Amino acid sequence: MTLENDPLVARMQGFGTTVFAEMTALAIRTGAINLGQGFPDTDGPATMLETAAAAIMGGANQYPPGPGLPELREAVAAQRADRYGLTYDPAEEILVTVGATEAIAAAILALVETGEEVVVFEPYYDSYAAIIALAGGVRRPVTLRPDGGRFTFDPEELRAAVTPRTRVLLLNSPHNPTGTVFTREELEVVADVCREHDLIAVTDEVYEYLTYDGPAAHVPLATLPGMRERTVAISSAGKTFSVTGWKIGWTTAPPRFVRAVQTVKQFVTFTASAPYQRAVAYALREEGKWAEDLRVALRAKRDRLSDGLAAAGLTTFRPQGTYFAQVDVRPLGFGDGREFVTALHERAGIVAIPTQVFYDSDAGDPYVRFAFCKRDEVIDEAVERLHRL
Ligand code: PMP
Ligand code: GLN
Repeated sequence: MTLENDPLVARMQGFGTTVFAEMTALAIRTGAINLGQGFPDTDGPATMLETAAAAIMGGANQYPPGPGLPELREAVAAQRADRYGLTYDPAEEILVTVGATEAIAAAILALVETGEEVVVFEPYYDSYAAIIALAGGVRRPVTLRPDGGRFTFDPEELRAAVTPRTRVLLLNSPHNPTGTVFTREELEVVADVCREHDLIAVTDEVYEYLTYDGPAAHVPLATLPGMRERTVAISSAGKTFSVTGWKIGWTTAPPRFVRAVQTVKQFVTFTASAPYQRAVAYALREEGKWAEDLRVALRAKRDRLSDGLAAAGLTTFRPQGTYFAQVDVRPLGFGDGREFVTALHERAGIVAIPTQVFYDSDAGDPYVRFAFCKRDEVIDEAVERLHRL
């Protein structure tokens, strides 16, 4: 080892710049329409923004308690109870984190021993692979495949992915990038596997409000029999209140899991931003109506973009939730998603994400993800330009 060598540790080699950063930089550099990285181009509720500004001007500018402001932990407890009937003690069962990203990272680092396995559905959110690798764990992907217009899994493949070394099942629903919202029946299969093999479930629920088939469409895995005691549930404010740049997230779990996650979290960031915690607590208490209006608006945007993608000749998977619609690019004669994304940028000035970067297998090669969390005029302009392909 000399200083000239790449100093990055071996277990992180291969994890270069994230595809989201890469694609957003490309869009900014070339002035393209950015339907790549999932972030809204309008602001969250004004009263929440004012609460953050007032918190800064009012002196909420020093370290809040490591587990998070009591006010926010209480608001999260009330939200889980009102929405899902799940009760958590704000003192011992809730931990505030720097976005869901930190919660996922701290949970995996805290719960997975070197050599232990994590079962995860592919395509998976990019941070999962990196964090499992950083923890010295091994990922066991189970592929989601199209079936009846949505992506789902084969229960036998899920069962076959579990081995005696499996410790954690990491589940994302509503699911990025496919847009699938897992049904209760699908979750029963997942829960069965967790109970039978005594696995810990880590659930990424950041799109919990963004489901388009009714407000109750998201079923937290912890609500299924025997699951609360083994589930580490994660969510964040970014998507619910259109503040992806605030990075306020949380974990709800039984005390021994929260203690484990906090043990890691305290040495990564110690605590999350005080004024934004206060504003998110306010929003969780007071802005439920705003979040519901956002859901309705996003459902219309989903249809706006999905209709446009389909009209351009792409096989379009109209998502049940999230910010994203997936397409299969083969009907337009493209070999794979990367080739399509390059042509889309060059000929139409639109940036999107080739879904294959979220797979271990080649099952994702034909798919591309488009974000629809954008102003209508941006979506319309993109749809118009799709015809240049
Ligand atoms: N999980 C999924 C599935 C996501 O799409 C994202 C991106 N928003 C995150 C986690 C990260 O959430 P946060 O911005 O709160 O860290
Ligand atoms: N969650 C966002 C997406 O999937 C991106 C977040 C990020 O850039 N890390 O597009």
